[in-house]
Amino acid sequence: MISFSEAQERLRKELLTLAPVRLPLDRCLGRVLAEAAVSDLDMPPFDGSAMDGFAVRSADLAGATADAPVRLRVVGEVPAGTVADRGPAAGECLRIFTGAPVPAGADTVVMVEATEAAGEEILFRVPARPGQHIRPRGQDIAAGQTVVEAGTVVTPAVAGVLATVGVAEPLVYRAPRVAIIATGDEIVPVDQVPGPGQIRNSNAVALGAQARLAGCEVAFTATVGDDEDALRDTLARGLGHDILILSGGVSVGKYDLVKAALRDAGVVVIFDKVRIKPGKPVVFGLHGRHRRIFGLPGNPVSAFVTFELFVRPMIRAMQGDPALDNRVVKGRLAAPAVNRSGRRTFAPAQVRRDGNGTWQVELLEYHGSGDLRALVDANALAILPEVLSELPAGSLCEAMLLPGIATNE
Ligand code: AMP
Ligand code: MG
Repeated sequence: MISFSEAQERLRKELLTLAPVRLPLDRCLGRVLAEAAVSDLDMPPFDGSAMDGFAVRSADLAGATADAPVRLRVVGEVPAGTVADRGPAAGECLRIFTGAPVPAGADTVVMVEATEAAGEEILFRVPARPGQHIRPRGQDIAAGQTVVEAGTVVTPAVAGVLATVGVAEPLVYRAPRVAIIATGDEIVPVDQVPGPGQIRNSNAVALGAQARLAGCEVAFTATVGDDEDALRDTLARGLGHDILILSGGVSVGKYDLVKAALRDAGVVVIFDKVRIKPGKPVVFGLHGRHRRIFGLPGNPVSAFVTFELFVRPMIRAMQGDPALDNRVVKGRLAAPAVNRSGRRTFAPAQVRRDGNGTWQVELLEYHGSGDLRALVDANALAILPEVLSELPAGSLCEAMLLPGIATNE
């Protein structure tokens, strides 16, 4: 049995990144950029109006007062998407609309609400600051500027910026294709009522959701009983994917056939027992140079936790994400905790910042590795060290934040 750190080290040695591909922008959400995006234009592309109003020469309005308004003649109109053929001369203004280019000669925009119409003329009762309500060319982005770095995850805002600078098909790391195989004679589909001794296949659902949340495409799912021949056949189909995740059958019982079946199928096992709780029998192996295999214990919390600890970093690495691991925060235990297992223990927890900004770590009621319900209320896994058996309230305690769940940060 190896330590958690040793397992992490062995896993890191086998991380790999998938080949990048060009994808249309609307398929890039959540992907990681494989190259920086450089702008082909200034943004805004021209000095544009931020208001509906009048493009004027600020010098014309210098003496404007409430009692002695300046009158300017309207000599043209600039809707968005057009360019005025001439700007205002002294004593003139142009009607302008939001997003339209400010005509040459005008150096300020007065919003329509601050003016009055008087026949062919417009009355201005206050002076205007030069540059007012004008978005200067290149203010946000300069042509040639890197707007998003390689390694950035495409969020909705990133997608919008890429669209702005004309990157219609960014180079991104493709989604890993994942196969999920749930093993066990006791497993029945989710839409069935379990008979005596049976249990619903919640692992395939939770693991599938975890894989998608981490950026994967779940390309294959199957259920197989504790039967060598059936397992061999199903494995043969699952092994064709970037990642194969199995649930169940990795302990030492008579019906735990997964490890032997993996070896028979040519999988090289990198580790198969880690000093953690839950999840001790977790298996990690390689199939060929590019395929990564995970055998997770069947208990639902064990499967969930070992996915977060080992599968997720592999998935993120495959997608070129430099942030491999879930964030770990250091906080204070809200109540005493015990860990007599001698293994590094991951316990469902709620973390929140208190008034001083210190993280408080509260262990949730939890009945062991079958108690998936406890994870519903969790936003983190508290990490209890293997070397200490008793931690008083207020002890420093690390907690790994679960992805996709907000804290009060
Ligand atoms: P195993 O690791 O195969 O010994 O499974 C341990 C326990 O996990 C089983 O007794 C079941 O209670 C549970 N289990 C196994 N597979 C699943 C699954 N796909 N979904 C939900 N629970 C499971
Ligand atoms: Mg089993």
